[in-house]
Amino acid sequence: MRYSKQRETVYQTLKSMCSHPDASQIYQLVREKIPNVSLGTVYRNLGELCQAGLVHRVSVENSAERFDARTDQHAHFVCHGCGCVSDVSLEDITVQHGLDGVSHCKVVLYGTCDQCRNKK
Ligand SMILES: [Zn+2]
Ligand SMILES: [Zn+2]
Repeated sequence: MRYSKQRETVYQTLKSMCSHPDASQIYQLVREKIPNVSLGTVYRNLGELCQAGLVHRVSVENSAERFDARTDQHAHFVCHGCGCVSDVSLEDITVQHGLDGVSHCKVVLYGTCDQCRNKK
């Protein structure tokens, strides 16, 4: 993969966010650093980063695709209330079931996060 400043900026931006942003949220922040960047360029660079294995896509029901710079295998928890996405340790699942050698994980749990529960 050839070095590109845009891709590096997209990657560093995503890495600095732990909120599992979608492409348009990443675009907003990248634009602060590279004012003439387009959403299409951000999309393309995200695609390349995914192909290179540096970034993972997170498919979330009823939401745009999210991106994650954390590449060790883990599950996700999505809040129906605020749409936040948080990480769930895969070990919590595999150890309990005595599973070894899990290669990848596409688990998404849905529910209400602590913050939204406390609002009620
Ligand atoms: Zn919430
Ligand atoms: Zn994650």
